[in-house]
Amino acid sequence: MTLRKTKIVATLGPSSSSEEMLARMITAGVNVVRLNFSHGAAEDHIKRAEIVRNIAAKLGRPVGVLCDLQGPKIRIGKFELGKIALKTGDIFILDADCELGNQYHVGLDYKTLPSEVKANDILLLDDGRITMEVDRVKGSQIHCVVLNGGVLSNNKGINRQGGGLSAEALTKKDRADIKTAVALEADYIAVSFPKSALDVELARTLVKKAGGTASIIAKIERAEAIKELEAIIEASDAIMVARGDLGVEVGDAAVPGLQKRMIRMARAQNKLVITATQMMESMITSPIPTRAEVSDVANAVLDGTDAVMLSAETAAGQYPLETVEAVHRVVLEAEKEYLGYHHDQKLNQVLVKTDEAIAAASIYTAHHLKIKAIAALTQSGNAAQWLSRADAEVPIYALSPDKFARRKLTLHRGVYPFPIEQENKNKDEILLEMEQVLLKQQVVSHGHLVILTFGEPIGHPGGTNTMKIIKIGENRPS
Ligand code: PGA
Ligand code: MN
Repeated sequence: MTLRKTKIVATLGPSSSSEEMLARMITAGVNVVRLNFSHGAAEDHIKRAEIVRNIAAKLGRPVGVLCDLQGPKIRIGKFELGKIALKTGDIFILDADCELGNQYHVGLDYKTLPSEVKANDILLLDDGRITMEVDRVKGSQIHCVVLNGGVLSNNKGINRQGGGLSAEALTKKDRADIKTAVALEADYIAVSFPKSALDVELARTLVKKAGGTASIIAKIERAEAIKELEAIIEASDAIMVARGDLGVEVGDAAVPGLQKRMIRMARAQNKLVITATQMMESMITSPIPTRAEVSDVANAVLDGTDAVMLSAETAAGQYPLETVEAVHRVVLEAEKEYLGYHHDQKLNQVLVKTDEAIAAASIYTAHHLKIKAIAALTQSGNAAQWLSRADAEVPIYALSPDKFARRKLTLHRGVYPFPIEQENKNKDEILLEMEQVLLKQQVVSHGHLVILTFGEPIGHPGGTNTMKIIKIGENRPS
């Protein structure tokens, strides 16, 4: 079987909640599940995470759990009849004091919005499906003229073109949800709408305070975040190219270029990156993707993303399994054309960390010797992360005794986490065990050359300092 390097993140929801469907999706290739805290109660998420982990254990596959916080998405309130239809030219009022909406006005969950917008601002509702221009603001009321009409239903989101609304990145609900995410042992926690590195740092502090070890993902979906990109990436473990909201704020045409820039920047800073939203959108209702969607997934792979994410396709669509299968198939094919990242730059870089230097040496060697695989003994996962950033052409087996480290490595491009028993073993026995893991996976056979990386003395996190080239079957204790 050909190994897929780029990972698949699938959002869970009504379409993917049964144990049977989850097992099929994980078998078909889902590496990380996303629990979307914009929907559902804490208990639902806790239950889902438990089911996923049970299935993952049964199937013997590591599956990461990503908890995605709702963030300060600004929303309208509810309508008497659930929805209304707006026509171009209609006058419509967004009113912070309105209880229940009708054809003429609707409430707001973000009470300070009227003081943050001004005449001529363009507001985009329901991910930009409906647009209105602010005519004037009067107390709690924002009087608008509809530019682009359509059906507007309960609780749809509002963005301002160009961004700039000051809602705090971590709401009261987010702070409570962080505790839930920590309780269910989230591997990744995603912060929605961060404006600066401070928002990400605050999330990290709250996760630590709650006793969690989750890595932090910054979702780049605000115009302001683009200006702060470098600092936000520095403060995060990973970023998400959150094309849905980002496209609304900066305009759809800017998104493809920004996607490439974000992927390039994240990788240059040795961080991870997920490409998200509408990747296989038509598969919500169709068993096959459009050519444009196939190209979109393939292009994200060619850009160098670590993972592609599915949202409504797997959460609420009619074909969750078919979507995962389609992404798997498209990614595998695209990877054949991938040229890789930074080979030359890395060779000319001054490295500051020992484990990064070992990773660079391993990649260099893998390119120039007929190496079949790299196996990294890693306590924290760091060694495997360096190898992944340098884009090895050969598979990277991350062998770790720590289940938390293994679960995090589900997101890294080209990395395959496996457990290893190192208790009561000396170095030579552990190196033999590493070889055994590779043989069991049937990636190597006798006579193949393999690189092993590890840290001496064995067992210290972040301590990789050794690279050893072995011929399978001839690795004898020294
Ligand atoms: P969401 O984030 O699905 O939580 O809105 C992703 C995006 O905006 O693209
Ligand atoms: Mn979003």
